[in-house]
Amino acid sequence: KTPVLDNGSKDIIPSYDWFQTDGSITVVIYAKQKDINSEGVIADLQEGKLRGEIIVKDHSYLVHVELSNEVHEEMTVQVSEKVGKVEFVLKKKEALFWKKLGQPLEGHNSFAKCTDRGLHYRKCKLLSKSNVTHDTRLLCLKLPPGTHLKVPVGHHVYLKQTITGTEIVKPYTPVSSSLVSTFKTPSHDDEMHLYFMIKIYPNGLFTPVLDNLQIGDYIFVSNPEGTLIKSQLEDVEDLFLLAGGTGFTPMAKLLNYALTSSSYLRTVKLMFFNKTEDDILWRSQLEQLTCNDERFDVQFILSEPKKGWTGKQGRISSSLLSQFLKRSKFDSKIFICICGPVPFMEQGIQFLQGLGYSCKEVHCFTA
Ligand code: FAD
Ligand code: NAD
Repeated sequence: KTPVLDNGSKDIIPSYDWFQTDGSITVVIYAKQKDINSEGVIADLQEGKLRGEIIVKDHSYLVHVELSNEVHEEMTVQVSEKVGKVEFVLKKKEALFWKKLGQPLEGHNSFAKCTDRGLHYRKCKLLSKSNVTHDTRLLCLKLPPGTHLKVPVGHHVYLKQTITGTEIVKPYTPVSSSLVSTFKTPSHDDEMHLYFMIKIYPNGLFTPVLDNLQIGDYIFVSNPEGTLIKSQLEDVEDLFLLAGGTGFTPMAKLLNYALTSSSYLRTVKLMFFNKTEDDILWRSQLEQLTCNDERFDVQFILSEPKKGWTGKQGRISSSLLSQFLKRSKFDSKIFICICGPVPFMEQGIQFLQGLGYSCKEVHCFTA
């Protein structure tokens, strides 16, 4: 029987099956759709429990079981994007014949709207932290060995900590490990690491606690969320990025992605708003990138410059934007991304509307 979704469409819902050999258990999810991709598969094998989620458009299908026998902590995830099939291969600890896969846990074998699913967290280890500027750190977290999680370009995750007995959750956008040395094929090891560029606010609730974490400490990281879709970048010719302070974080991966994967791209321009020169994140890397790739250019605009600054000054304005947003040819397809403090984004969007840019041409990063 074809189940009918709550939106009334007669899409066929995904299903799962499992089989075993002497040494392994394979759980297979049939998405019954051909447009799945590896970033839509989020899986965790922890403490004898398997939680495998696949995102199909705005819905999520879940396999969630307490396994009936012991397995090794690592698992292999194979995604056949064209066929719409995902396999989780687990290694048995003992060559026993399993009579069943395990006990169903919350949400097992269900297909629900992503927004109704709730966030799942896993415990990640702090591997390193370094200074990006006087108040901003680069943290590297390692995913647990049984986790398969890729954060799509422009998406964020939530970090969770218990602070004086209360669980506090805040969104952060993973960045690449650097801007200039990541032009290589990512290895499996790279996929196990998440990098975060985080500004520490001395009077803030969450960031001072993050800053005090020691190497080897754990922090909970959620599934990704976000609204940017890679296809929005597919045929873009001119990409304009407007960032205020740590609003630069979604731009970091976006820059790498656009410069390596968008075939029609002619120009990428970053307009980076900060208070002072000392606040500019990855300045030398950005300058290096302008030398490495002639399609890329960056402009720094300071709102509180110190004496001696000869570059642009001020805050986001219609006149700054109209000077900056120059198409590389009169009819080029453009895309503008904006991220930063809320008033910066609100004003920016208003100015962009005033300059005649349509909603389709502007992406705003929000939680
Ligand atoms: P808060 O307690 O929120 O305080 C922040 C500042 O505001 C402090 O200076 C504090 O003194 C001041 N403040 C707090 N309350 C008041 C008040 N009532 N009146 C006046 N001032 C006040 N940040 C990053 O650094 N990196 C990222 O990659 C990143 N990604 C994000 C992605 C998304 C989608 C969003 C929405 C935000 C992102 N942020 C990011 C911001 C992050 O989520 C936190 O808001 C930030 O880290 C501040 O957290 P906090 O609890 O330390 O500070
Ligand atoms: P900041 O206070 O250092 O300001 C950076 C620049 O933003 C300033 O130099 C100025 O040009 C502009 N700006 C600041 N306040 C403004 C205002 N009231 N009106 C107009 N322009 C203003 O920035 P920060 O402390 O690094 O904060 C970055 C902000 O970006 C945070 O609020 C954070 O939540 C947000 N952020 C959002 C996302 C997301 O995906 N939505 C990601 C990262 C950061």
